[in-house]
Amino acid sequence: MNLCDIKTIKQTMAMFSLNFRKEFGQNFLTDNMTVEDIADNCCDNPSSTILEIGPGIGALTCQLCERYDKVVAVEIDRTLIPILAETLEEYDNIKVLNEDFMKLDLKSFIKENYGDTPVSVCANLPYYITTPIIMKLLEESRVDGKSMFTSLTVMVQKEVADRLCATEKDSEYGAITASLNYYGKVKKLFTVAPGNFLPAPSVTSAVIRIELYESNPYTVKSEKMLFDTISGAFAQRRKTMLNSLASSMSFVSKERIGQIINEIGFDSNIRGEKLSISDFCALADKLYEEKTK
Ligand code: SAM
Repeated sequence: MNLCDIKTIKQTMAMFSLNFRKEFGQNFLTDNMTVEDIADNCCDNPSSTILEIGPGIGALTCQLCERYDKVVAVEIDRTLIPILAETLEEYDNIKVLNEDFMKLDLKSFIKENYGDTPVSVCANLPYYITTPIIMKLLEESRVDGKSMFTSLTVMVQKEVADRLCATEKDSEYGAITASLNYYGKVKKLFTVAPGNFLPAPSVTSAVIRIELYESNPYTVKSEKMLFDTISGAFAQRRKTMLNSLASSMSFVSKERIGQIINEIGFDSNIRGEKLSISDFCALADKLYEEKTK
């Protein structure tokens, strides 16, 4: 069965009396080459274990099962579970779980399903919840400063991909870019036009790959202070970083924040967009010193 064939998708959905559910961001891939490219790029090692979020009717899942040792797929929509039982029938290396990914306790989920084997994530993410899913994957998978995931290969809206892949020189650079750079390196792989989905979304998509650091190159005194600093710096984008930080960091005077910005090598009129993750680490450490004085 070709699960990317539009007629097959429509027939399968009709057979189970199902409609595409907008509330779950259901835009299924209809292009075999795209699906194969995503699966190919997800991991270099065939003996890898994979986590797929949102298998839909299983087009990408099949390709992952063909290539890798073990796949666990988490699907929120219980009405798709009987379809997946049929479309994935021939594979014995797949486990499908009917769960809301956002509600999973990620650490115990990984322990239960993968033990200590490294896991790569591969997904055509639902657009309505892309950023929260990526942040959950980054933030909740860490044990002793190291991620339980090797890499995340995900399809997102092209604008989100541009934001995630931006550098300090780009206008798209923001809090999420800086935060992501703390966890790993991100690369845009390719874009996918709306015509490659059913139903077609109104926007272009892109596949990105986030390679997570095996050991984090950035050390900070407090990760909480780092992320508070990043979100504080971008909280009021039209203001300078100094003004924006002064509104959110009540434990330190505006004057002292200005001095700290100078001490890490910048003019106090600088905007958050110009700071790299290592600049943010330096800034956060100095602010942490002020807070714990
Ligand atoms: N992987 C399929 C493909 O590429 O054709 C479907 C991708 S579709 C864009 C997103 C999928 O994620 C849908 O199957 C949807 O039901 C599922 N989904 C949405 N929110 C979810 C959540 N919170 N947890 C798990 N799955 C979710």
